[in-house]
Amino acid sequence: MTADVVHIAAVKTTRKARPALEGADPTFAECHTLGHAWHRLGTKQGEWAKGPGETVVYLECLRCTSHRADWIRSATGVLAARRYYYTEGYLRPKGSAKLPRKDWRALWLAATS
Ligand SMILES: [Zn+2]
Repeated sequence: MTADVVHIAAVKTTRKARPALEGADPTFAECHTLGHAWHRLGTKQGEWAKGPGETVVYLECLRCTSHRADWIRSATGVLAARRYYYTEGYLRPKGSAKLPRKDWRALWLAATS
C-alpha cells in the first residue's frame, strides 16, 4: 500500500505589525470606534460669527466631553467652518503612531467585556 502524498502549500502569513497600543486611553476607545455622540449646547450669532449671517452651533460629546463648533450660514445651511476642541487625553501623544480603527475597536471590546 502506498501512502497518498499530500502537498500542503505553505501558508505565508504576512500580518503587519500592530502599532503599539501604549498611550491609547481606553476611556476614549468608544468615541474612536463609534464616533462622538454629539448633543447641542447652544447657538450664538453676531460677534461670534466669522462672517455675516452665520450661526455658530456648539456641540459636546456625551461620552468624552470633547467640543465642536460649526459655523453655519443661516440662510443656506452651508457649513462655513468647523473646529474641534478635544478633551485632554483624547488625542494620542505627539509622535505616536495613528491607531487604525480596528485597533481602537479591539481596545474598546477589551475594555467593555
Ligand atoms: Zn466623544
